[in-house]
Amino acid sequence: TEKAYQFMIRSRIPGGALTAEQYLVQDDLSERYGNHTMRITTRQSFQLHGILKGDIHSTIHSINESLLSTLAACGDVNRNVMACPAPVSSRAQAQIQDIAHKLALHLAPKSKAYHEIWIDNEKVASSEEEEETIEPMYGQTYLPRKFKIGVAYPGDNCVDTFTQDIGFVARIENEELVGFTAVIGGGMGSTHGKKETFPRLANPFADVTVEQVLQVAETIITVQRDYGDRTNRRHARMKYVVEERGIPWFRQQVEERLGYTLSDPSEVHFHDVDHHLGWHEQADGNWFLGLHIENGRLKDTETRQLKTGLRTVVKEFQPNIRLTGQQNILLVDIPAEQRSAIEARLQEFGIATDPKDAGAYRYAMACPALPTCGLAVAEAERALPDVVTILENNLRALGLDNEKLSFRMTGCPNGCARPYMGDVGFVGRSRDLYNVHVGGDWSNTRLNTIYAQNVNVKDIPATLQPLFVLWHDERQDGEGFGDYCHRIGIEQLKERAAEKSPI
Ligand code: SF4
Repeated sequence: TEKAYQFMIRSRIPGGALTAEQYLVQDDLSERYGNHTMRITTRQSFQLHGILKGDIHSTIHSINESLLSTLAACGDVNRNVMACPAPVSSRAQAQIQDIAHKLALHLAPKSKAYHEIWIDNEKVASSEEEEETIEPMYGQTYLPRKFKIGVAYPGDNCVDTFTQDIGFVARIENEELVGFTAVIGGGMGSTHGKKETFPRLANPFADVTVEQVLQVAETIITVQRDYGDRTNRRHARMKYVVEERGIPWFRQQVEERLGYTLSDPSEVHFHDVDHHLGWHEQADGNWFLGLHIENGRLKDTETRQLKTGLRTVVKEFQPNIRLTGQQNILLVDIPAEQRSAIEARLQEFGIATDPKDAGAYRYAMACPALPTCGLAVAEAERALPDVVTILENNLRALGLDNEKLSFRMTGCPNGCARPYMGDVGFVGRSRDLYNVHVGGDWSNTRLNTIYAQNVNVKDIPATLQPLFVLWHDERQDGEGFGDYCHRIGIEQLKERAAEKSPI
């Protein structure tokens, strides 16, 4: 008999936007074929785990019937396009989400194979000539590696713009969308012990008009297609082409292929990462509710029926849904008169609607890691909650528990939960051991730096405690933890920390 192989199926949900009906299909599939949980990814998508090989076809077929897709959610193509998920507050914001959808469709593989295999079961007749034109952008061999795009609202870096292959930051004048500033060459993944791999921030590239966006994105991708490293997958992301050949070379390549020149990039400023949690009024008078979801995992436990409660509310009130890049969920387009009924229903299932109830975990993220990710060398989703609980207690003792502080943990250096950004990152090295990074910033515009290597998960609180004390004693007015660590510098921090804790 054949082994009962289990698979993960990830959907493509541009900007994390789905209808109540589409949400309920995902929920139903996770109950019918999956492991009774759903996971919101850090790229605003859903992953279903535990799908048996024999159920893959039914699952993907149903996802497509719901008018979502799994096409280009994996593979060496453009992945799920991220976009600020906050519900429409202006025409410009609606356009931003529209452009994320258009990018996803424009950059999706054109091969008919996906539909043949998963949708119709029928071969679409094609001549050799047709086959040659099947992938006008990706060509016969697709890209050297996956490709990521995020579209940001000005000022709010909730899509982690600088970690994308291309980040498009909207430019808005007099409430009108006038174009985007493109930044290129970001990426998180690295490999321990391989110097040619490293996390990298995207650089300012050019300003583009709304009309140019699709063509510019496509052209940037063709440069990566032609110059990306196809001999070493660890060194194949576009960030290495940008690093090694430089922005002027890259821009020249793009402009030659476009046949016109691009404008120099405007300065990009982010002052916040808005998690969009709690109740907010929309421009159309409706409301939205952002719910914190620990590690993006929707599941029922003995004390809280998160998955059942959300299913009940979505069925009963039919809100539209948005998934965020911080693995949270927004219930949107809610008429004011439904607010208290929704609150009451959620509370029946033990679901808190006040973001403060999530405590320090409100700003924490972990990747799935063990046991579902084949690349994991350490725990993340199952380890981070306990770590953050201890850190939170330590911060409370110093009166710092109300400060915004981001914690991100991954089970390997690939960095799916973007641990090289933010105040504190934990990157799995082997079972129970992590590199501890500090010194990023709240708005995710700066990489953090390794502070301690191979720290046992049990020793993480003791490693950070002297830094918390130093921050408490020496911080400037309102200075964030990451900003403090960055100002002092890693070597100085180590020296001062050693004085504080003579271990
Ligand atoms: Fe990504 Fe590594 Fe985490 Fe797997 S273990 S989800 S590859 S960061």
